[in-house]
This record gives sequence, C-alpha cells and structure tokens, in this order.
Amino acid sequence: MAMRVGTGYDSHRFDAARPLVLGGVTIPGHAGLSGHSDGDAVAHAVTDAVLGAASAGDVGTHFPPSDARWKDADSIELLRSATALVRAAGWQVVNVDVTVVCESPKIRPHAEAMAARLADALGVSSGRVSIKGKTNEGMGWTGSGEGIAVHAVALIESEAS
Ligand code: MG
Repeated sequence: MAMRVGTGYDSHRFDAARPLVLGGVTIPGHAGLSGHSDGDAVAHAVTDAVLGAASAGDVGTHFPPSDARWKDADSIELLRSATALVRAAGWQVVNVDVTVVCESPKIRPHAEAMAARLADALGVSSGRVSIKGKTNEGMGWTGSGEGIAVHAVALIESEAS
C-alpha cells in the first residue's frame, strides 16, 4: 500500500457584502470572504492538500480565476472534482485535518457540519475529516480580523506503488 501526504494553505480577506461559506457551510451573521468563487478558504485548502498529495497541481491550475466558469462557484463542487481526478489516478483519501485561523466566527459550533460536507465531497466518512479553530491571539492580520487563514493536511493511499 502506497501512501502520500499533502498540505494546503489558503487565505481570504473578509468582505461584508458576501455571505460567509466555510467548509461548505453558510454561517449567518458574519462577513463573508472575497474571492472569485464563493471564497470558501476551507474547501480551497483541503482541495490543495488532496491535489498536492497526488502531485496533481492545485486549485489555481484546475479552477483558474480567469475562467468565468468558476465565478461564485460552490467550492465544495471544486473539491468533489479534484477528488475525482485524484481517484482516477488510483488514490483514495485516508483522512484530512484542518486548522482554521480567525478571531471570529467561532469554528467549533460549525465543525461537525463542515466535516460532513467536506467528507461527502471527499468520498469518506465524516470521522476522517477533522476541523479545528484557532484564534491568533489578536496578533497580525488574522488577529485584527482582516481575513481568515486555513491550513490543511491530507493523507491518500493507493494499492499500487
Ligand atoms: Mg482560495
């Protein structure tokens, strides 16, 4: 059994004119995130981790912002497409772990719903997706509430080597 690991990182600036979508979950009562798609930085970081594990490029190469098709795109569907691509190359997702860095919103109340949506797109049970929230203790651009940063790691496996 072959295994590969990949990391993903994404950051988006808050934009009060947009709804907040994180990990495929709409969180009401909070500024959203700027971006060509729906701005879902969690879905983007996870997509990069999964693609990275398979050495299969990244969000920018597969879903470029220059392409009108991805305007306001549902990023969970981008993750589903990226997962299909990685599957076609013979890989299965083992697990994904995500850290969301922001002062607000609180992540924990939404973590289970986010894990369920991401797991569905990844074709795994939600127990294989972990979502953790951290504040930046008021330091730097995440600490001042300018935007959100997301770190993700994904493990994939294949029966071929
Ligand atoms: Mg992004």
